[in-house]
Amino acid sequence: MTHEIAVIPGDGIGQEVTPAAVEVLEALEPDFEFVEAEAGDAVKDETGEALPQETYDLAAAADATLFGAAGDTAADVILPLREAVDSFVNVRPAKAYPGIDAVRPETDLIFLRENTEGVYAGHEDRLTQDVSTLTRVVTESASERLAEFACDYVAGDDHDGFSIVHKANVMRETDGLFRDTVKGVADENGVETDQVLMDAFATRVCLDPEQFDVVVCPNLAGDVLSDLAAGLVGGLGLLPSANIGPDRALFEPVHGTAPDIAGEGVANPAATIISAAMLLEYLGYDDESDRVHTAVEATLEDGPRTPDLGGDASTEDVTAAIIDRL
Ligand code: ATP
Ligand code: MG
Repeated sequence: MTHEIAVIPGDGIGQEVTPAAVEVLEALEPDFEFVEAEAGDAVKDETGEALPQETYDLAAAADATLFGAAGDTAADVILPLREAVDSFVNVRPAKAYPGIDAVRPETDLIFLRENTEGVYAGHEDRLTQDVSTLTRVVTESASERLAEFACDYVAGDDHDGFSIVHKANVMRETDGLFRDTVKGVADENGVETDQVLMDAFATRVCLDPEQFDVVVCPNLAGDVLSDLAAGLVGGLGLLPSANIGPDRALFEPVHGTAPDIAGEGVANPAATIISAAMLLEYLGYDDESDRVHTAVEATLEDGPRTPDLGGDASTEDVTAAIIDRL
């Protein structure tokens, strides 16, 4: 069966790292048909729209989407694109690599972040000059969907269960519902869980990241804590992410457009290539996915490296070395 892959490079180094990831996918020869589309600042300057309807429709129909980055228009692009794939979970691995400077080189975590509600549901009001409010939405259905995904996720690999991060001692209704629902689904599926208050998690993960593995979080906590973990593994430069929906998914590096180095051909393609490895796994190409992970790891360790990692290689050199090692 042919899979249609939407490719949306976007702006800045998105234009450099996205084609690099496509090259890697092409070298593996899975049955992919790539369709490229525009989004971001450049297309907005031309047409007035940061996310043309045809790009949205393409992502909403493709089996998977590979996205690079968007500049000032990021929110106008990525939020609707996540909605186009009906993404209910954001998967963010934070893994340190041998040979790369990290605050905590032993870090190897997977964050599963609720992707649709919480404080990001958009219910904010300014009541008076002096008073603003925010309504936090947590539903049983969204928590269940996330928990079912988490149970499948830990069943597929050598994970012992997952941690539920919340603050239900203070937010008794919202995080109480989140915690109870996620725990209930895990219990029904025979999946082990432990519970950690989000503030305690922040301290414990810095001191000893090895006590955690798969971490299931509400939206805001997942956003903040996964960025914190990014700091533990040496910054945003190497981190991939996946936005998973019921029938399709979108994969993107965590970093942005890097305007300071855009156009120079020296962007590190690793985060986007690892995102492509997640795409392969999502579509069932487990063996190909493993090969990409292994080739990237070997290249990070033995080089060549881009300047952000202290080397002087170009995006092309690193991509070629990864393809060589496949
Ligand atoms: P944006 O607003 O699009 O997020 P930014 O200025 O915040 O842009 P980021 O892309 O978030 O830039 O990157 C932050 C820093 O990390 C920049 O100095 C950038 O050069 C560096 N950086 C990010 N990604 C990469 C990469 N793939 N390769 C090399 N350096 C990177
Ligand atoms: Mg940024």
